Amino acid sequence: MPKLIAIIFYSLFFINVASARDKIENHQQNLFLNLNLTTFEINENSEIFYDENSGIILENIQSALLDLMSYSRFDNIEECQSLELQVFLLPRRILNNRRIMDFLQWSDWNNQDIRGVYTSFHVQSQGEIYINYEKSSREFYFTLAHEFFHFATDVECKRFNYTERDADNFATNFCESSDFC
Ligand SMILES: [Zn+2]
Repeated sequence: MPKLIAIIFYSLFFINVASARDKIENHQQNLFLNLNLTTFEINENSEIFYDENSGIILENIQSALLDLMSYSRFDNIEECQSLELQVFLLPRRILNNRRIMDFLQWSDWNNQDIRGVYTSFHVQSQGEIYINYEKSSREFYFTLAHEFFHFATDVECKRFNYTERDADNFATNFCESSDFC
């Protein structure tokens, strides 16, 4: 009997180990190898990564992010963890390339293509937004606001208290109060 218990215990143990998600060191490596990314500073704690050839007008995105920070009263939120914000502006073919973006947990959304995503899983001090810039500006800024909501609630360590619908509601309200989307 103890032997049987031991077998059950070990198999449970191994199942847990197998299903645990590992942090990937240097997780953005493939991204930097496949796109010639340049940085643009938004403020001392946040920056945009973009492809110089994309023709993106960064000042607009910068002012949208600064608006999002004041709209969400970001400076007044209770900071539970200090996160630097990285916003990656990506073409669709890169954002939805599972090999390059292999550090995302694609099964979390049934492996469907995405417009944007937020993660802070791999580097403790980093909140990362990856977003498709080839969408219409309405969709782009809505998605940016949605992902920003995940970031702001992550700084409060309350990210998982909120749903996708909460992030959409935040984005809808932001869009109604601004000219971006
Ligand atoms: Zn979301």
